[in-house]
Amino acid sequence: MSRQAADNQDEPKNAKYVPHTLRKHAARRALTEEANWNREKAHVETIRWRDTWPTTEYALNEKSTEHKQLIVLDLNGTLLYRGPHQRDRPRVVMARPKLDEFLEFATKHFAVMVWSSAQPENIMSMLKESFGDHEKKLVRVWDRRFCDLSGSYFSKAQSIKDLTRITDGFTLADSPNSNVYGTYEGHLGIFPEKQDHWKVENIILVDDSESKAAMQKDNHIFVSTYTGSWRDGELGVLTTYLHNYLCQKEKYPDLLGYVKDNSWIEFRNNVVRLNTDEINMEVSD
Ligand SMILES: [Mg+2]
Repeated sequence: MSRQAADNQDEPKNAKYVPHTLRKHAARRALTEEANWNREKAHVETIRWRDTWPTTEYALNEKSTEHKQLIVLDLNGTLLYRGPHQRDRPRVVMARPKLDEFLEFATKHFAVMVWSSAQPENIMSMLKESFGDHEKKLVRVWDRRFCDLSGSYFSKAQSIKDLTRITDGFTLADSPNSNVYGTYEGHLGIFPEKQDHWKVENIILVDDSESKAAMQKDNHIFVSTYTGSWRDGELGVLTTYLHNYLCQKEKYPDLLGYVKDNSWIEFRNNVVRLNTDEINMEVSD
């Protein structure tokens, strides 16, 4: 009997041949699914951050704000740099140069919310390490659960921040991922009484990722990704850009009108070209 015939004797008749590589992929997929499930379980069981958000302040700010223009801020790569995972230590968070001045200016003249595609506990640590007192001036913080995801919540799925979710009364209950943290809700949708207060023409998204703004490209202030350099001047330039808008507010009832007439990318590149390193941060009332 040939060796091949002897091997085949052990296989049940009509058994389908599955190549080794496919079996390997299936095994790997099962392991990944199990790991995702364990991570999900661990999240639900170890949430310790639920009471640490200043949600009362956010609610008060949102209800009381008179500002009709809303700036939506991304965190990682836009306002700060978050280092790689480390085995025994928390990830390093480095605030982008002039973040403090930018937040001082922005929260004074605009309504400001944070919308990150990160998970809530990661957002909390980023805010705690980089925002200081400015955290309590935000009108809202939205996390990954409010994004439109191309895949499962705990995978590296593409995420989109659709600004109409702010104006259309999207709530956590509308998210397919509303229950990933058990019954904890944390951040809710915009208060119904405020939904008419902001319209999409008065909202801009400041984000270092082009794909996040796929639904409203015109509203996107596409900043360069911050990688930790102390020489970075992006937030200073952005402050000047928004300051210029305030000086022309009469001309532009909608913020989007200003953004369309005054390309952010051109403005930024001109400043970089002129090598302007002294940005006037003073804005008169
Ligand atoms: Mg980012």
